[in-house]
Amino acid sequence: LQEAVRATPETRVARPDPVERINPTPTEADLRAAVNAGDIRVAYQPKARCRSGTLAGFEALARWDHPDHGNIPPDVFVPIAETSGLIDRLTLQVASQALRWLADLPGEVRTGDQNDPVLNRLQLSLNISARTLNNRALFDELAAICRKNRVPLDRVILELTETSAMEDAAVSLNTLTHLRLQGFSLSIDDFGTGYSSMIQLVRMPFSEIKIDKSFVMTAMNSSESRAVVRSVVDLGRSLGLETTAEGVEDEETMRYLKSLSCDIAQGYLISRPLFAEDIPAWYVERRAKLEARRIDALHRL
Ligand code: C2E
Ligand code: MG
Ligand code: MG
Ligand code: MG
Repeated sequence: LQEAVRATPETRVARPDPVERINPTPTEADLRAAVNAGDIRVAYQPKARCRSGTLAGFEALARWDHPDHGNIPPDVFVPIAETSGLIDRLTLQVASQALRWLADLPGEVRTGDQNDPVLNRLQLSLNISARTLNNRALFDELAAICRKNRVPLDRVILELTETSAMEDAAVSLNTLTHLRLQGFSLSIDDFGTGYSSMIQLVRMPFSEIKIDKSFVMTAMNSSESRAVVRSVVDLGRSLGLETTAEGVEDEETMRYLKSLSCDIAQGYLISRPLFAEDIPAWYVERRAKLEARRIDALHRL
């Protein structure tokens, strides 16, 4: 197929593929300019408790709207940031936007409860690249950003992918222990896609395991996926960790997760990642729906 694509450049000029035109590989210079200009925005995806539906927090996800090429997915630009030395600044930009936003959120949601306890306890998840893991100065800066915004460190969850945390397990153990002692919460992202041994995992001071979306999204059609989801939820429970399922797209999967007593769900069923300006309205609507459901359940008792 690649041969065929390469052999027909004329056709590609004559009938450009719109998808290809929207997402060409951006250059390092483009990304550098965007980071310098502060053009990386943050989208926030909610996480909800499976049992009660209560909002547990949000994951901050970097977004880059390229002036010529449109939205570039983070799976494309984060690796470029990693190889070009921009990742530390990207991480700090995402963190400072997100923490300022989190601190202001209770004031933005004006209707109803003036002092909504849920909003004052929300956690914020930040994705941390393996390349940043050994940079203690960066985590000190992160801690300073949290203090400036009066967000206690245990409300900030640093997400590391399974592969990055286990790359050099001895170094990671050291750094992660340091971060945990500093007060951060730690999460192991995309769990199930790497090959970490249970023994290594048990020694790492994580507070959450996130089951990779590839298993969650296929759980209802694949007994293998269900076996992975079930085992990870069990593992999390045995280790006293919170288990989060990412990629929850439908009610059936949600019911299945509840039946396993999985703690937290994240996915399109609850909401796609949202920009800050859309969250107060989304939250007020969701709170009203939950309240209606609660009253309904009381009537059925
Ligand atoms: P991740 O940390 O595993 O984030 C979850 C990804 O799954 C997000 O993709 C999210 O939009 C997507 N997702 C959530 N729910 C669903 C669902 O129900 N169905 C489907 N199909 N997808 C869902 P996104 O935003 O494109 O991010 C991709 C990856 O890029 C992230 O995976 C993370 O590894 C990385 N990333 C994003 N932002 C940052 C950042 O600020 N720093 C670093 N180092 N990495 C980041
Ligand atoms: Mg993540
Ligand atoms: Mg993930
Ligand atoms: Mg991922």
